[in-house]
Amino acid sequence: MAKRDYYEVLEVDRAASEEEIKKAYRKLAIKYHPDKNPGDKTAEEKFKELGEAYEALSDPQTRAAYDRYGHAAFDPRARAGGGFRGGGFHDPFEIFREVFGAGTGSIFDELFGGERQDPAGPRRGADLRYDLEISFEEAVLGCEKEIAVAKLDSCESCQGSGAEPGSTSKTCSTCGGRGQVISSRGIFSIAQTCPRCEGAGQVVEKPCRACHGAGRRERTSKITIKIPPGLDTGARLRSAGNGEGGIRGGPSGNLYVVLHVKPHELFQREGDDLICEVPISFVQAALGAEIEVPTLSSKASIKIPPGTQTGTVFRLKGKGVKNVQGYGVGDLHVRVHVEVPFFEKAKDLFR
Ligand SMILES: [Zn+2]
Ligand SMILES: [Zn+2]
Repeated sequence: MAKRDYYEVLEVDRAASEEEIKKAYRKLAIKYHPDKNPGDKTAEEKFKELGEAYEALSDPQTRAAYDRYGHAAFDPRARAGGGFRGGGFHDPFEIFREVFGAGTGSIFDELFGGERQDPAGPRRGADLRYDLEISFEEAVLGCEKEIAVAKLDSCESCQGSGAEPGSTSKTCSTCGGRGQVISSRGIFSIAQTCPRCEGAGQVVEKPCRACHGAGRRERTSKITIKIPPGLDTGARLRSAGNGEGGIRGGPSGNLYVVLHVKPHELFQREGDDLICEVPISFVQAALGAEIEVPTLSSKASIKIPPGTQTGTVFRLKGKGVKNVQGYGVGDLHVRVHVEVPFFEKAKDLFR
């Protein structure tokens, strides 16, 4: 297959400036990047072609050679003693870094999915989530709960270093202490975190026996969670520093406790108000009465006026839920339900 002209590949004029070539390459490389076109062979070919064209035209020396000899300038068979190519590939990684600036995120991260923090430095432990079921009363009145959380904590024997006490670290031989290894995909090379030292650049001479060199061990910790009154299902409590232990001296993550409140057989909750339904007799409804109703913590009485209908709601002020932010207390709404008696002989009465 004949090679396409490099200027054509980059869609630039033969007189294009260095800046124009760089711009064109950036635009097309983003368009044809394999991560953006998974499984698309044509895009992959185009991306490789682009890299090759850019490699040749971005350097004034190789560009001059290409202008003079065309593709033959880079043909190893035609190259006598040395040639122009300095060995190795052009790394598109470099230009992205250059064009977008290190750490600007956006397209760079989108293309390479890279976590850009220093892999050898301390890392914060992960945040954890714990789902906790509590009773209706516990949610309304507040409570204290002890929970057991199995999580990775900093190893006590080695203080998180991963090295057996008394032993030291040495430079990782896999990456030569850089913490990264370069792997190639066609003309395209990627720097990856070293699998042996996990980016630290150092490996311990003698791994800690307690944690096998990981610096962290799984342990079950008992944590007391104080739940203030008035919370409801879905509330999230943060227990700072009770997440996973950090790596290489990094801080611990947080533990988030998510509440699930069990339903109550008598009461329902609507914000800070409680709602309950109370049956009254036909006679009580017709003639009026004073009845006793349940509240969450004890009992209260309400006066039923004569002629009360089913569905009438009586409000007991301040017998609801204490507002979690301290804005007073909700009410208890008692909805009465009149029980109509059924007389076996009733139908005879109306004959
Ligand atoms: Zn250890
Ligand atoms: Zn390494």
